[in-house]
Amino acid sequence: MYRDVVASLATRHGKRVALGPPLRRHLGLRLRVPDVDTDALGTFTGEVARPGPARQVVVAKARLGMDATGCPVGVASEGSFGPHPSAPWCGLQVEHVALVDDRLGLVVLETVTTVASNHGDLLTDGTDRGELLAFARRTGLPGHALTVVPAVPAPDAPLAPVKGIVRVATLLAAVAAAGAASRDGRARVAADLRAHHHPGRMAVIAEAGRRLARRLATPCPGCDAPGFGLVASHPGLPCSGCGTPTELVAERVHGCGLCAYRRTERVRPGADPGLCPHCNP
Ligand SMILES: [Zn+2]
Ligand SMILES: [Zn+2]
Repeated sequence: MYRDVVASLATRHGKRVALGPPLRRHLGLRLRVPDVDTDALGTFTGEVARPGPARQVVVAKARLGMDATGCPVGVASEGSFGPHPSAPWCGLQVEHVALVDDRLGLVVLETVTTVASNHGDLLTDGTDRGELLAFARRTGLPGHALTVVPAVPAPDAPLAPVKGIVRVATLLAAVAAAGAASRDGRARVAADLRAHHHPGRMAVIAEAGRRLARRLATPCPGCDAPGFGLVASHPGLPCSGCGTPTELVAERVHGCGLCAYRRTERVRPGADPGLCPHCNP
């Protein structure tokens, strides 16, 4: 279905390195990167708000590339970072990848969720240089880059974010400028989350690409369309001791993007009583 097909990949951040090899190896699909402004669909530094949830934006981004190239098949990825819902002190990184195939009317999505390695930011007026350099080291400078913006931007004199900072001299100058342009005199320093400046994120995008490729290589048992795979999982796995439903996954539903074929897999055996709200409250 995808052997020697050329798909567009809308990215300005070098994601071909991560997504190209698995799609070529598993499917024979080749990627073409058009010159499109993916920042129009949102930036991590906040100058442009993302116009919707990541699962919609990744499809819009794929279509942006298809429009620019005329390819009937398009690929894109979209990441989001935020606090972990059950452990707010660590960051959660979610990477979505999508393949849109207008020949079939098919949209296939895959998602990888992981704990983010360098989530969080630092507010500083620049006087505590030790704190600033320790933050830079923790973020992974110079292999990973930083961004700097004013902490409280003056509405009449907006200052563009400085991105891709990998040198200490550039960091110090950016913090001084952003502090001077902020109403509280402080700069906000954070990891640059754009993939080409974030090897940790690029590795997660590559994993998402492998999952997408494996899924696309799996035909639907009902209609033979590519992309059969997990569409839902339901908690409630019964405790193996007393049968009380737990929060663990009890069944996984695999489905097709084109037809209504579904296959439900029940998880066996039951849950460890140590994870049961009744046996181990
Ligand atoms: Zn099907
Ligand atoms: Zn139990």
